[in-house]
Order: sequence, then C-alpha cells, then structure tokens
Amino acid sequence: MITNSHQGAIFIGSEIYGKVAYGKNHPLSIPRVGAVTDLCRQMGWFNAENYVDSPTASPKDLGRYHSRAYIDAVRKVDKAGKSGAKTREIYGLGTIENPVFSGMFERGAMTCGGSIYAAEWVLGGGCAYNPAGGTHHGRPNRASGFCYFNDPVLAILRLLDMGVPRVFYLDLDAHHGDGVEAAFINDPRVATVSIHEKSRWPYSGVESNSSDNIWNFPVPGGFHASELNFLIDEIVLPLAEKFAPDAVVVTCGADGLAGDPLSKMELTNTALWSAVSAIGDIAPRTIVLGGGGYNPWTVIRCWAGLWASLANYDVYDSMTSSALNILHSLDSDLVDEEDINPNWLNSIADETEDLPIRTEIKDLALM
Ligand SMILES: [Zn+2]
Repeated sequence: MITNSHQGAIFIGSEIYGKVAYGKNHPLSIPRVGAVTDLCRQMGWFNAENYVDSPTASPKDLGRYHSRAYIDAVRKVDKAGKSGAKTREIYGLGTIENPVFSGMFERGAMTCGGSIYAAEWVLGGGCAYNPAGGTHHGRPNRASGFCYFNDPVLAILRLLDMGVPRVFYLDLDAHHGDGVEAAFINDPRVATVSIHEKSRWPYSGVESNSSDNIWNFPVPGGFHASELNFLIDEIVLPLAEKFAPDAVVVTCGADGLAGDPLSKMELTNTALWSAVSAIGDIAPRTIVLGGGGYNPWTVIRCWAGLWASLANYDVYDSMTSSALNILHSLDSDLVDEEDINPNWLNSIADETEDLPIRTEIKDLALM
C-alpha cells in the first residue's frame, strides 16, 4: 500500500464540482467528482485532516504553461457566454468538444489549483489526490479533448520548480496523454508512460521515443485487468525503477473501465487501484489525478474506491443507505438501462477474474 512508505494521503475537492458543467448533451455533463466526494463522505472516509478544499490557480500560475492570450480568451468567452468563429478556430473554444459554459474558467482554474497544491503538499512526502485533475489533453494555447487547461503539466512543472529532480508520469486514461507527452518530450527530468486504447482519438501515442523518456503502450479493445497487471509488473515498474523518480504523477482516467461508453477497454476498478498503488510505491511523493470517464456509475465507484485505497480505508465496508442512494440516483443518456450492471448499484469494488493475456499484450513487453 502507498501509505506504508508515505506519510498519509489528502483528498482535494471543492463544492464547485457538485455543479453541472459543460452544458447539455456533453459526455462530461454527468455527476463525477461531486458524487465521488459525496460517496466518500457517506462512507466515512474523510476526517478533519485528509479533506482539503481546493485552492484556485491564479492567471500567473496558469501562465507557467499556458499563454497569456489563451488564458484571457478562456476568461473572455466564459464572461460573454459564447465564442466566435475566430476564437473557435484559434483556441478551440466553443466547439462541440470544448463548449463554452458559465463558470468554465473558474472550474478549470480550480482543477489546476488543486493539482498545483498537490505538488506543493507532496514536497514533504505522501500522496495527494485531486480527482478533478487529469485534464491531460490541454495545450499551451488551445483547448483539446474536453480539456481547457492541463493540470498534470502544471503539477509536474511545480514539482520541478520546487527542486524535485525527476518526475515519472503514468497515464492510465483510455486516451493517449498527448498534452503531457508534448510538454515534456524534450525534458529528460520527466518520463511519461501512457497506456491507452489504440486507434482511438487523438490517434497519437503509437510509438515510444529513442531518448528513453517517452513510452507509449497502445492496447487493443477488450484490454482487461489481468493484462493491465501484466503491463504494470513487466514493463511499467521496471521502467519506473530504472528512471528512479523523486515523485510520481498518475492520471487515473476511468474511461478504460468496462461499461464506459467512450472506449472498448474492459478494465476493473480494482486493477486500476493496484496499478496506482504499485507505481506510488516507487517514489516518496505521489500525486493521483482523475481524467476521463463517461459512465457515472463506473467513474464514481472507481474514484471513490481509489481514495479508499490511497488512504487505507476498507472499500469492502458495508455501504450505508445514503451511500447506496448516491449510486441509485445516477442516470446517464449514454448508458442503456439494460446495460446497468447490478454490481454498480450495490458495491464499490468490481469483481475480479483472472483472464488469459493475449499475445499482442505480451509482445508489448518485448518492445
Ligand atoms: Zn480519456
């Protein structure tokens, strides 16, 4: 467990995440971090020390990675409530993918503020969890893939700026962590590893680089828990041990879970928790972020259980009726009623099953 070698864990949250965002008809207009926070609270997994209200990032903080003109553009469209043709084209703001909604600047800045705070907090060791984070597609001067800013990049930069020599970034989201890779491709102080579904947007992350700091493992549809365990044990942990980082940052997107409408991966939440725990043991400082995830049941169970795993609570504790009510109250236009797994309504941990590892996955270990 992470807490065996670290000095405890904090959860970074905010009431802002309980509010609906992204407007209507967007895959992210579902309950996510707000409901994760409620579920953890109802399970009794917070105390006076381990829940922290997220600070917000100032424009100067955001400017460590994002251009001033782009930051101003996000503020401007938020205030105006709409984008224009030029802003849409230059900054990707006001598209179907990256819609303009009221409070978008505040929410994006809060997400980044949480991850920057996570970096500051773990300087003294331990684990900081910001489930609203993981906006890994954001570019310095452009919104991309539902991400307005890039909080993993800002967290890593803050670690480096504070003197942390080497940072290992692991991206478990179903989509390639292209924005983070692009930020550090020429920085030998940072290694990035992304495990993502192949032939899926953004279609990058096909290869690793020769300078040994960028690693990509595109996996086929149906990628399951036993296969993730294999990749972590056989590839990621040896790579991380060799890199010898002083801090680890993980984007733990939940869109690779079975039942997610935006990927064909078939992971279990327990496999993601084990992966995060194993990689967290490599360094004395760990930052854990959220990411994608478009099935409210699987996202909320995954990220609530991830907190239990990080903070040493028992995810198999019987659920209180108010905790169960949270799972029963969820709804999604992207998940058909007959596809709702009964386990999603009465438990947090997925059931585990050992499955054979396909040759295609074993071959990744030989690359
Ligand atoms: Zn994703």
